[in-house]
Parts: sequence; C-alpha cells; structure tokens
Amino acid sequence: MRTVVEASRAIPVIAEPDVLVVGGGPAGIGAAVGAARSGARTMLIERYGFVGGNLTIAMVNPMFTFHDVNGKQVIRGVAGEVVNRLVQATASPGHVTDLTFDNASMTPFDPEGMKLVLLDMLEEAGVELLLHSTFSDVLKENGTITTVVIENKSGRQAICPKYVIDCSADADVIACAGAPFVKGRESDGAMQPVTLFYRIGGVDIPELKAWMKANRRLLKDAPADEEIDAQSALALLGMKEIIKEAMEKGEYPEDAAPRILMYELPREGQFAVNCTRLQGIDGTNARDLTRAEIETRRQAWGVAEFLRKRVGGFERSYVLDTGVQVGVRETRHIIGDYTMTEEDVLNSRAFEDGIACGTFAIDIHPPEGEQQIFTGSGKAVYEIPYRSLLPQGLDNVWAAGRCISATHHAFGSVRVMATAMAVGQGAGTAAALAAAEGATNRRVDVKRVRAALLAQGQYLLGEVIEDVGDDALKLRRKEGSGSHASHHNPFAAES
Ligand SMILES: Cc1cc2nc3c(=O)[nH]c(=O)nc-3n(C[C@H](O)[C@H](O)[C@H](O)COP(=O)(O)OP(=O)(O)OC[C@H]3O[C@@H](n4cnc5c(N)ncnc54)[C@H](O)[C@@H]3O)c2cc1C
Repeated sequence: MRTVVEASRAIPVIAEPDVLVVGGGPAGIGAAVGAARSGARTMLIERYGFVGGNLTIAMVNPMFTFHDVNGKQVIRGVAGEVVNRLVQATASPGHVTDLTFDNASMTPFDPEGMKLVLLDMLEEAGVELLLHSTFSDVLKENGTITTVVIENKSGRQAICPKYVIDCSADADVIACAGAPFVKGRESDGAMQPVTLFYRIGGVDIPELKAWMKANRRLLKDAPADEEIDAQSALALLGMKEIIKEAMEKGEYPEDAAPRILMYELPREGQFAVNCTRLQGIDGTNARDLTRAEIETRRQAWGVAEFLRKRVGGFERSYVLDTGVQVGVRETRHIIGDYTMTEEDVLNSRAFEDGIACGTFAIDIHPPEGEQQIFTGSGKAVYEIPYRSLLPQGLDNVWAAGRCISATHHAFGSVRVMATAMAVGQGAGTAAALAAAEGATNRRVDVKRVRAALLAQGQYLLGEVIEDVGDDALKLRRKEGSGSHASHHNPFAAES
C-alpha cells in the first residue's frame, strides 16, 4: 500500500487527569463514575455528541441481565442505580421477565431517557466530559502510556493522564499501544455478525396481543394468554415459518436474521428491532463498516415492511429511527493476564480477584449458521477476574467492556451491557486506588478493590450480602424449552 509520512508537530496538552476513560459506553460510564466516586480526578472522552455506547448510539435494547435464575439481583452498583433512575424518569418499566432467551430478567429502557440519566450521573460524580473527541494515538515510555492523543473540531490534542481505561469496545488504545490481542474466534478470527438496531413506532399493542394469542405457535415457547397479558414489556422471538415463506416470495431481506426478535419499549407503541444481520464485517475496518451501514439499512426497511404486512398491530407502524451506527458485536479481545473461558461461565466460577458478576447466557450469533444459546444449567452466576482487565506489557492501563480478555465463547456472555457496566465500575475503582497510591495496575490490592466495590453497593460472590430479591420478578419460563435455541451445559455433571 502507498504511504505518506506526516510531519511531526507540537500539540497542546489540554488535560492531565488521574484517570482517563476512553469511550462512553456502558463500560465507560461504569469506569468513569466508579473512578470519580472513588476520589480520582477523572476525564471521559467520547467520539459522539452523547454518551451510552450501544445503549444509545447503536439503539441496542434491552439490558441483559441483572438477576440470577432465583430472582436475586447480582449486578447492582452503578448499573443498578441507572435502572432506578430510569424507572423514576418513567424511562423504563424496570426488570421484567425475559420471554426470549430464558435469562431471569431483561431491562428495557427508553434510549433518550438513558442519554439524560447517564449525563446526570457523570456530572454528579464530577467527571470531566469531552464529547466529539476521537482517540487517535498514544505516546508510551516503557510499559506506561504517558499521553493519549485525540482528534476533534479543535484539532489534534494531547491528554496526559496517570492511568487509562480503554472502554472503546474495540481496544483501540491497547492495540495502538502495541499490547497483544486476538480478533474474533480463536480458530479463524471470524467475528459475530453486525446488526443495525432500530425503533419502530405506531404499533397497536392490544391488536398485537390479540395476534400473539392467535398465533402463539409462531412464537418461542408459545406463550400462554396470561403470560402475554402479564408482561409489562412484550418481547417477540420467532416467526421462522412465515419468514421462510416470505423469503421465498422475496418479501423478507435475504441476509437478515431468519427470525423476528424485538422488544417493547416504555414509550407507547414502540419496539426495538434486532433483525438485520451482516456477516463477514470487521468492525475496525471503515470500508467494511460503510458496506454494513448501507446493507443493514436496506434490510431494516425490508423487515419493517414484512411486519406491516404480516403481523397484527403493525399495520400502521413505521421506522422511527435507526442506531447512529451499526451495532458491532465483536472485534478485538485483549490477551490479558487471565483469559476467561466458557467453563468459567457455565460452571459459575468465582475468583479471588473477581470484580463483577455476570449471569447472561452464552449467546453466540455465529459467523455461520443459527444463533446458539448455552446456559449453565440456567443458574450460572460467575465472576469476572481482575486479571482479565490487564493488558500484557502495560502498567497503567485497564480494559473494560467487550474487549476484556475472554475466549469467543465466554465473550458470548460477558459482552452484555449490564455486565459491561459492572466490569467498568471495577476497573474505575481499581484505577482510583492505583492513583491514590501511585501503584501500577498489577500492584493494586484487589481485596481493597472488592471491599470498595461492596461499599459502593456492588454484589460479589463469596461475600455475605443482603438479599435484594426482586419481588416484581416472577419466573414463569421452563428452562431450555425454546425451539429457537439449544440449552445445555457441556460441563455440568449428568443428573
Ligand atoms: C446488535 C447487537 C445486539 C446486542 N444485543 C444486546 C442486548 O440485547 N442486551 C445487552 O445487554 N447487550 C447486547 N449487546 C452487547 C452490548 O451492546 C455490547 O457488548 C456492550 O455495549 C459493550 O459495552 P462497551 O462499553 O464495551 O462498548 P460500547 O457500548 O460499544 O461503547 C463503546 C463506546 O466507546 C466509544 N468509542 C469507540 N471508539 C472510540 C474512539 N476511538 N474514540 C472515542 N470514543 C470511542 C463509542 O462511541 C461508544 O460510546 C448487543 C450488541 C450488538 C452489537
């Protein structure tokens, strides 16, 4: 490839925070609030004009998953507070039964309400926020990042932090600093497909409920009338048969997922739709992303037309808005001091250095074939160890969110948004402790991080913690009864 050489130049240093968080998605919010509340002078940079990452930018909904199968809330802390605030702002019904993938709960929310709640929380915590600013480069001395270079409308600028938390989802900072990572699946580098999420408005809910009751066999687990009526936020998974028929007639986009998956939102008649799909896209490649934006947008309109024609209640529905960008499920995973495995997830493994819990099923949209779901006997609550956040060869950097060190399979569970926020809070709290002591990331006393997280209301395994079981969460699903997913734990003892 032809190259040119840029002239070197002096650029202004605009800030020297204790902790710099790169990326304002769920992980970045958890990290920034966690660090600032723990006393660190914290700065957050985000490339778009608002925060939230996939919660808002990619329009992904709902949040998974705060509760174990017994209804115990195992993700609390900053993420739990976000939900409480959303409920107060009537921007979420709170936690409701998951009618799609047999997780104990799901948490739908209004993305506009989310934008404001997150901003309020950052401001109240005293985080210095810089929007419209994209990470560009690092300067490094030995294993320490001394400078982070950003680009924005003011030009090229330098930030000289003591510590950096990479919450860019793609591990942009860590990759740029030369630390090792893998992309996608270990065997061949293939990554999960991308999806343009979008909102549909104008759905007639009573008509839709009547259609669901009349066509329950088309939906996962054929929900009973009482289940449909009781659900305060509907979720639909299925319709494979009518999609197949529509595809044969050219009335459903060929590459889109061959099933409907959508979630009712708190604002009247709105659904978030998770149906577009494109394989073979590298979310760190601008040409691939461009192709994805174009193709998935066409799919989105095709699926909306299908719903209008074939599903009761959707006759007068319309595409309300689409994500600011296509949702990228998977790119780089850092190679940390510990790489989480499928066995850790399915066997509910606790770690001495656990800094957050996860409890979502392993949900893999494979680079080929149908979506696969594996639940660890339906009870898996596991911990994410601190070592999975530590990039090799870097002493003042943490990863948080979907780029932490995990295999392609373990990643299928740890990637979700409630978990990402909890992991972010763990990283932010650790970074603040490091800043207070002038310690490197590997010298931080993780026992103290755990104690600080518990004091902030987080839940961790192996501790005596008051139960805040959610009475509103009633489990009505039989485990593993879905016709659209296979549920098994290859590591569980046969019973
Ligand atoms: C299609 C799809 C469906 C999904 N479904 C669900 C679901 O139903 N429920 C669920 O809980 N999870 C779901 N997920 C997973 C979840 O959305 C992500 O794994 C999660 O958002 C990861 O959090 P994060 O903070 O690491 O990254 P992100 O949410 O991607 O946030 C990263 C942030 O960093 C910013 N950023 C990135 N690069 C730079 C840069 N160079 N400079 C400055 N800022 C930067 C971005 O703008 C963004 O704000 C889904 C994901 C996708 C793509």
